[in-house]
Amino acid sequence: MIIDLHTHTTASDGALSPQELWQRAGAAGIDLLSITDHDTVAAYTELEPRTRKLPVLIPGVEFSTTWQTIGVHVLGLNVDLDSDALTAATNFQHAARQRRAEHIAARLARVGVANALVGAREFAAGAGVGRPHFAQHLVRIGLVQDVGQAFKKYLGAGKIGDVKQHWASLEQIIDWIRGANGTAVLAHPGKYGLTRTKRLRLIEDFRQSGGQGIEIISGRQDPALTAALSATAQSKNLLVSCGSDFHRINQPWAQLGMAMTPPPQCRPVWANW
Ligand code: MN
Ligand code: MN
Ligand code: MN
Repeated sequence: MIIDLHTHTTASDGALSPQELWQRAGAAGIDLLSITDHDTVAAYTELEPRTRKLPVLIPGVEFSTTWQTIGVHVLGLNVDLDSDALTAATNFQHAARQRRAEHIAARLARVGVANALVGAREFAAGAGVGRPHFAQHLVRIGLVQDVGQAFKKYLGAGKIGDVKQHWASLEQIIDWIRGANGTAVLAHPGKYGLTRTKRLRLIEDFRQSGGQGIEIISGRQDPALTAALSATAQSKNLLVSCGSDFHRINQPWAQLGMAMTPPPQCRPVWANW
């Protein structure tokens, strides 16, 4: 079985359309696939009616939230796409992103950059507007040379456009996922730049908040990290999940269908589906 429960499409920041991703996953021999765009399930409405059996599609989403002051991601897997809880979650996150974008635009206006939100929206192409889109706008109007400079002068830490994001809380996100009959999985625990001690605390808080599993494999990663996360999952009685975090085809460390098999002693999240 080839399983990939973490992928992105053009519905968020991925490069392939949902249909293209679906086809590519099939060609890669994937049996079980989840599309987990950032804070949206729009990809699922874009998919054409399925004519092929494989890959089996598990409805999913990747929510942004914060733990202490750190941005963390929570996967909702096998969610009911039509549930009120999921709609409430995606609506809240969408509004949060929108409020932040308006706030950034208002602050840029103070330093003479008018109508930045309109410009940034063009780069977002229908997806949520974030700082990279503002950066592209600032490059286009000739205020800066490149995206790097846009962050350095206007959008990065401590600059005028550095506006905090107010996502739903970790507890709230987990409640919504479980309310949608989904499984709440902490995404890529090794990618938050935490010490081992802090990572364990995050996982424990996640578990105590109702979180059910952790993603022990995220794309190409150090086998020592996989072993450590597997051991943590076992000791805390958490389910395990695996995904590539695929965004685009030119990132060899995150490709669809990469061999990802959890150690046999772990309980995979898909065991009960
Ligand atoms: Mn992404
Ligand atoms: Mn993520
Ligand atoms: Mn992701």
